[in-house]
Amino acid sequence: MDELKEDCGIFGIWNNPDAARLTYLGLYSLQHRGQESAGIAISDGSKLYSYKQMGLVNDVFNEHVLSLLHGRHAIGHVRYSTYGSSELRNAQPFAVEYKDGSLAIAHNGNIVNYETIRSRLEAEGSIFQSTMDTEVIVHLIAKSDGQTTHERLASALNELKGAYSIVLLTEKELIAARDPYGFRPLVIGELNGALVFASETCALDLIGARYIRDVLPGEMLVIGENSVRSYMFSTRVTRQSQCVFEHIYFARPDSIIFGKSVYSTRTAMGRILGIESPVEADMVLPIPDSGVPASIGFSQQTGIPFQMALIRNHYVGRTFIQPYQAIRNFNVKVKLNPISGVISGKRIVVIDDSIVRGTTSKTLVKMLRDAGAKEVHMRISSPPIDYSCYYGIDTPTRSELISSSHTVKEIEQFIGADSLKYLSIEGLRSVIGQDADNYCYACFTGDYPEPFELAKRDHQLILFDEGRLHGG
Ligand code: AMP
Repeated sequence: MDELKEDCGIFGIWNNPDAARLTYLGLYSLQHRGQESAGIAISDGSKLYSYKQMGLVNDVFNEHVLSLLHGRHAIGHVRYSTYGSSELRNAQPFAVEYKDGSLAIAHNGNIVNYETIRSRLEAEGSIFQSTMDTEVIVHLIAKSDGQTTHERLASALNELKGAYSIVLLTEKELIAARDPYGFRPLVIGELNGALVFASETCALDLIGARYIRDVLPGEMLVIGENSVRSYMFSTRVTRQSQCVFEHIYFARPDSIIFGKSVYSTRTAMGRILGIESPVEADMVLPIPDSGVPASIGFSQQTGIPFQMALIRNHYVGRTFIQPYQAIRNFNVKVKLNPISGVISGKRIVVIDDSIVRGTTSKTLVKMLRDAGAKEVHMRISSPPIDYSCYYGIDTPTRSELISSSHTVKEIEQFIGADSLKYLSIEGLRSVIGQDADNYCYACFTGDYPEPFELAKRDHQLILFDEGRLHGG
């Protein structure tokens, strides 16, 4: 089931008279990657304009706001906070003025040595406006003695460890960069001579842009008035570690991520799951929406008919007012409702993309039994999530991950299923295919490509803003 939690989405466009609106549309299609805040920064060639607010893209932007955003070059961001709390000062793009002019930056990923860099900068006298890891990049740029913006950015990025896909805008340039591991996606597109950058190709599709290729891990593209230059900026030699969870859960199925169709990888995960862990059943049910492609694959492989017998309410927001009197399974029921007429008396295989804490599966199994299911078998189209992610995906602490402390048999009992099986790591790797070694599987294996710092400071400055006052 899709929860309203994701990491972030970024977008950039260079040289289009409709840059603000196209960025708004790009963000609209990246909304699944972050629902807390949205923002656009735009350049008219001599000035930068920036607007950001808490809320969904469509709530933040309207005709009036877009009419104030003049220019042909823009970047945008939608945010789910993986680092830093949910408040306006942490919304992006993060725009500042410094000795060489203005710049705005939009970042997706987690910088794992943020605490060290921030403490060092603070010891040197820097003051911070936000509690976001992204802000250290701006400080490092301002302090760098590089001659050009991209040299300063490169020297800043070379101090960072962890995950970052970035678009940066100055009055005169747009720069896009991806960390040398390539943890988070970033694609390049083209629209009537305009260059476009986006976290996912679904944003290119919406505005009618053509997908050219990915920004390469460790690559920086610098776009100016009459030039597009590409640099391999990283001084570190690392193995590529693209996030496999983008393919499992995060990205939209209509996107191409790391050069592969997400729909195809998800259906293939379902097919392999069907080979690895078949079961005698009358129907395959997805947990919508995230379990749908894998269920189609499982059904194709096993020949068990696919049914959409769990119906999702697409209009459920982050919070909803609860009834005074407890209604059984209310929290899940408000989002998903089973069609008892289809389920009653049947043996069911339910497919979801992942189990995190186990609560969704447990409630759903109960709900399906209440709806009359004779047997409920659970199949998960990813391996057990045993470890937290430190590279930009919101997973809870390790102790909250049910598989970190329970065997599959124990989880099966906890969720109350007749059987529970997960996709194997080998199965997952076979879906990714020949570049399987270029992916990060740390949430399943604990093999972290980059060491991370756990310390999180306790921020004491609490700023109330519109978003917070209205429950953001
Ligand atoms: P849980 O109830 O904690 O086991 O959560 C499992 C559900 O969360 C599954 O239906 C997944 O589709 C979904 N899910 C997996 N990873 C995430 C994530 N990082 N953020 C939000 N939802 C997720």
